[in-house]
Amino acid sequence: MTRALLSALVLAPLLACTKGVVDPETGADTADSAADPTLGIGPAAVTPSGPYGEHSFDVPADAHWVNTGVFLREGETLEITATGTWELDGQALSTEGDAALGEQRGCALGSLAVRSGLRFEDALSCVGAGASFTAESDDVVYVGMIFATDLGDAYGERLRADGALQVTVSASADTVPTVSIDSLLDYPFDQVSSGWVELQSAHHLVTLPADQVVADMATAQAAMDTMDRIYEIEESMRGAAPFEGERIRWVPDASIEDFAYMLASNPVRGVPALFDGGEDQRILRAAEPNTDIWGFAHELGHCFSFVNGTWVYQYVNLESWPNLFTIRVLEELERTENQPNYETYCDGKESYLAGGEYETLAADPFLQLCFLKDFESEYGASFYDDFFQGMNSQSNSDIAYDGTEASIWGYVKGRFDLAAGQNTAEVFEKWGVPVE
Ligand SMILES: [Zn+2]
Repeated sequence: MTRALLSALVLAPLLACTKGVVDPETGADTADSAADPTLGIGPAAVTPSGPYGEHSFDVPADAHWVNTGVFLREGETLEITATGTWELDGQALSTEGDAALGEQRGCALGSLAVRSGLRFEDALSCVGAGASFTAESDDVVYVGMIFATDLGDAYGERLRADGALQVTVSASADTVPTVSIDSLLDYPFDQVSSGWVELQSAHHLVTLPADQVVADMATAQAAMDTMDRIYEIEESMRGAAPFEGERIRWVPDASIEDFAYMLASNPVRGVPALFDGGEDQRILRAAEPNTDIWGFAHELGHCFSFVNGTWVYQYVNLESWPNLFTIRVLEELERTENQPNYETYCDGKESYLAGGEYETLAADPFLQLCFLKDFESEYGASFYDDFFQGMNSQSNSDIAYDGTEASIWGYVKGRFDLAAGQNTAEVFEKWGVPVE
């Protein structure tokens, strides 16, 4: 790995996606085992209301935080005990992790940690073999291995972790049931005294107020089916699933409102309005023709474009590549109407090709998307299926990044030549994109 690549990893950009116009803003390698769709789901049978009682369940190191099923209000407490070992980078670790590896938010790397809510980079409490945890805010309580930042999770860092601890949680507090979309119509949402549930579909977990599920009952099933279809279309294009097939959790996070509309990772964090806001933006209305689903497909596009933690080739502009997935989704679902960006993403093409500066294309995620889509026009509808499936066997260390954008495009061109089965230089030249 070159020094420049190392600094790129240190400077891993925040995948902060804004509404409508996707602003560019502000990493990990390796791959591991096969898909495990149970990752991230905690105790199966918590009751709709408290007291929670005691539940034992596995906490896999590669799960992006496991819902304990407990809802703690400020000042309320739960007890956790844990046994077993899990692994980081192949090293077996106890519940206490290993302080020699470093620490993250006050806890030894590789240790068991607990958090109230999943607010971006919010405080953690260290658990180790056991601890009492008192909440400082009203929220769902999650547990998991701590070994990186929340941003690192976006870049696939959790692929370094494996194994599972056995965890027992006891509390007299209220509960957060996980409700399968298949039992939606039968579930007693009016008995959920915490006011919060996680809805579970084939590929997603959505953290929501119970009364919002009731309010959106007429559209919720179709919405979750649409979310699953979006996932499956992107999975088919990529030929692999992110986070080892773990469901993608979607959580409201008011703390990101100042800088983003949504933040890609697992969980995908969104402004609360995506859960309880306008008719044309709520996730439980995703199947309705007027709902803007660009953002949902785009965030998943980040996840699918980072499947194996190989992302440095996107470094020129991380907001263009995910939309190759977004566009595919909109076209396959026949949802191109009412999706404002779909009609306009190539608006800058004509003036750019008439003599624009490369820097404009580098900085503009939509113009760059238009450039990327040109390869599909030139080399066929399956061009990006072939490209992304080829990327499944690439790692960041395969990308000879020397600090220049030309070196990144040089790598991309090599992969594009393979996907096209021919030299793709013509399109790079047409768009004035430097290649070395
Ligand atoms: Zn984005």
